[in-house]
Amino acid sequence: MKMKRILITGGAGFLGSHLCDRLLAEGHDVLCLDNLYTGSKDNIRHLIGHPNFEFIRHDITQPIFLEVDEIYNLACPASPVHYQYNPIKTIKTSVMGAINTLGLAKRVKAKILQASTSEVYGDPEIHPQPEEYWGRVNPIGIRSCYDEGKRAAECLMMDYHRQNGVRIKIVRIFNTYGPRMAINDGRVVSNFIVQAIKGEDITVYGNGSQTRSFCYYEDLIEGIIGMMATTDGIIGPVNLGNPSEFTILELAENVIRLTGSSSRIVFNPLPQDDPTQRRPDISKAKELLHWAPGIPLADGLAKTIQYFKGALNSL
Ligand code: NAD
Ligand code: UDP
Repeated sequence: MKMKRILITGGAGFLGSHLCDRLLAEGHDVLCLDNLYTGSKDNIRHLIGHPNFEFIRHDITQPIFLEVDEIYNLACPASPVHYQYNPIKTIKTSVMGAINTLGLAKRVKAKILQASTSEVYGDPEIHPQPEEYWGRVNPIGIRSCYDEGKRAAECLMMDYHRQNGVRIKIVRIFNTYGPRMAINDGRVVSNFIVQAIKGEDITVYGNGSQTRSFCYYEDLIEGIIGMMATTDGIIGPVNLGNPSEFTILELAENVIRLTGSSSRIVFNPLPQDDPTQRRPDISKAKELLHWAPGIPLADGLAKTIQYFKGALNSL
């Protein structure tokens, strides 16, 4: 197999750092670019000094000139708490980050994969969501900086492909969880696990009847790598996620059971525009990538709980 030079933007984040591990293990040269906004050096500390690994502290809203064969564009805060903290920066990261990485891909003829999201479907009326569905996104709400930023990034990917022949891949990632999510990430799986381990109240927003479909990171990383490896004719978008759907209340009950916690469930107000249901139709990923997730929620949660116990202990 040919050794490639691979750029991962957002490489010090939760998913990006696992992708760094995976691609280094395959023998590639990995350039990990990150401004450490939500990512952390802790996620990549074990890679510093590896002969095929370089960390570049850089903000992807600024152009960058590198020689690479492939680009995984993951830079963007993914937790609602973090992407809503500085919404203007969030949409700049998605839009200017896409322009800068696509410009780089065009210049050096690299293949580029965009980490898009199930959020492009907004609060969907079609269930489960196939890639053909155009979505129901509020363009002016508090989630718009993320949703519309990601939609614009998909648009830019398609336009660079049609206008300049850039080799692109778009994956739409559904809720993914696992070790290396930040303790203060704010997304539901890490929140519930941290609360349960600490014996604090489990904060269910709304009545907990809204649904999500949770994918363990190992499955997701396989899907992303599989998509990058497809022939140039396959550009996506392709949904990647685990179709097993749970209510948020069921998730809370699972976390309490698996941690053996004495935490109580409390109900807090539902944030604006919180999607009521979400489940991927993964027919395309099955057909094109021969990919389907294999790790059930209880198994993935158990591994993630182990990780957070260690992370909280070492604070
Ligand atoms: P994360 O917050 O852990 O990772 C994002 C990384 O991007 C962080 O390391 C952060 O510091 C970096 N970053 C943010 N803004 C940047 C900028 N301007 N310049 C350079 N680096 C920047 O989140 P994650 O869950 O690992 O998500 C990775 C990607 O996958 C994101 O693009 C996200 O939108 C997408 N995604 C994730 C999920 C999921 O459930 N985990 C679902 C859908 C899409
Ligand atoms: N949620 C919750 N309690 C929390 C964090 C999130 O009930 O402490 C809910 C949130 O309202 C949403 C779901 O869990 O309905 C998933 O939220 P998350 O922030 O993980 O990601 P989203 O899929 O909304 O982008």
